[in-house]
Amino acid sequence: MDIQFYNTLTNRIEPFQPGEPPLVTMYNCGPTVYDFGHIGNFRAFVFADVLRRFLELAGYDVKQVMNLTDVGHMTEDQLADGGGLDKMQLAGQRLKESKKSGKAAVENPDDPYQVAQFFIDAFIQDAKTLKLKVANEYPQRMPRATQHIAKMQDLIRKLIEKKHAYVASDGAVYYDVQSFPDYGKLSGNTLDKLIGGAGGRVDEAAQSSKKHPADFLLWKPDPRHIMKWDSPWGTGYPGWHIECSAMAMELLGREVIDIHTGGEDNLFPHHECEIAQTRGVTDCPQFARYWMHTRFLLVEGEKMSKSKRNFYTVRDVLEGKVSGKPVDPAVLRYELLKTHYRSNMNFTAKGLEDSASAVRKLRDAAEWWEREAGGAIAEIDLNHPILGAFAQNLGDDLNMSGALGVAFKWLSEWKGSAAESLGVLKKIDSVLAVLPDSHAGSGVEPAIAEKCKALDAARAGKDFASADRLRKEIQDAGYEVMTTKQGTTARKKLA
Ligand code: AMP
Ligand code: ZN
Repeated sequence: MDIQFYNTLTNRIEPFQPGEPPLVTMYNCGPTVYDFGHIGNFRAFVFADVLRRFLELAGYDVKQVMNLTDVGHMTEDQLADGGGLDKMQLAGQRLKESKKSGKAAVENPDDPYQVAQFFIDAFIQDAKTLKLKVANEYPQRMPRATQHIAKMQDLIRKLIEKKHAYVASDGAVYYDVQSFPDYGKLSGNTLDKLIGGAGGRVDEAAQSSKKHPADFLLWKPDPRHIMKWDSPWGTGYPGWHIECSAMAMELLGREVIDIHTGGEDNLFPHHECEIAQTRGVTDCPQFARYWMHTRFLLVEGEKMSKSKRNFYTVRDVLEGKVSGKPVDPAVLRYELLKTHYRSNMNFTAKGLEDSASAVRKLRDAAEWWEREAGGAIAEIDLNHPILGAFAQNLGDDLNMSGALGVAFKWLSEWKGSAAESLGVLKKIDSVLAVLPDSHAGSGVEPAIAEKCKALDAARAGKDFASADRLRKEIQDAGYEVMTTKQGTTARKKLA
């Protein structure tokens, strides 16, 4: 099938042609593990997952790598060369405070590895809850930066050899942006625009020792730093950008990869610097063939920030902090994927309600067809008109609203057999991933199914007090109670 994506590198929609089809190599800038992931982060990660699932539906074999950044992030990452305080240390301090108030998260908050592992575990749990496939490939495809220091040092050594990097008078190793004529091509932040610290993008303190204000840090010797490794340039730690160049090359095993993703804030300096580093080593005309960036998630129209108190983690949303009642993970996933990735997404309580009703419709249809088909399911491929139209919309730069439009129109009009419909729906859900894993009783626990039976028996015996009590018990367990011709059934409330 024809697929085209918007490539940030060329600012154009381009036909998608991976280097070695049917293989697609994809690298996603993953989370910093200094805190719980927020729903904005997860918008970027759900996008990467949808992209992978769509490419798999289209017949590709996707090798996906998403890193875990557990070192190198400073509080002033927006500066070309980084700076400020180490975020891992700050995270440890926060955990220490929570330990004081009785909520012990880790044994020793002064140990950055324990702090990182705590937030990695939380991330993997959230990612599995939101059905991110890559989370099932942890740790093989989800590398921790601290486990790839040797590869980073290898790249830095090669960059120095090839005169793309130098040791400055302050002892740190910097990338020499003037040695790489394509610097600025991705973000538009070309060197002439960056001279003189345009836009506050360079750190004044480091200027005196650098050749150009936009030169960025590769290695910082600092023996007192909380995480440190020996190196030819002194005991210290790597810059943030070199981590992704190293892990992408090492884990994808290629000098040129097919797709690289990240949020819009990753464009500069992070991805610009990744390109300069990787191409500086490989001399290839490209690092990633396609660069894809998700726009930010906003909350009720405003930027998400702690100070505005509109900052939500996945757990906050699922526990009901936004809507006042628990939310099914499939509803949050649907909410995060339904807006086109190149538009800002506005996260609202109303949006969650709409997503709950969309997921409910898909689940009801699956349940209905499953009952009707009695275990049969047709083998469906992209030649099917509905699945084909759904996929074609996604092939158009992931036009999700077009694809969902096809799915819901079909649900309201389609007259095919149950087994065929179920086959189509399951393939659509291979991308959406909002149906329960098993439809047996629609995910109703055996104890609840027993209560439904008992409720019918109580009603038949005119024991209305028991019937009312049972109904309340089922509802209190998070289910809706429905009376059907076949008797009482229950289904999980979504939001
Ligand atoms: P971080 O953990 O801060 O490195 O962010 C992880 C990923 O989430 C990066 O790709 C960011 O670009 C992305 N990201 C951060 N905030 C948002 C947001 N509000 N909306 C969408 N993506 C975001
Ligand atoms: Zn990255």
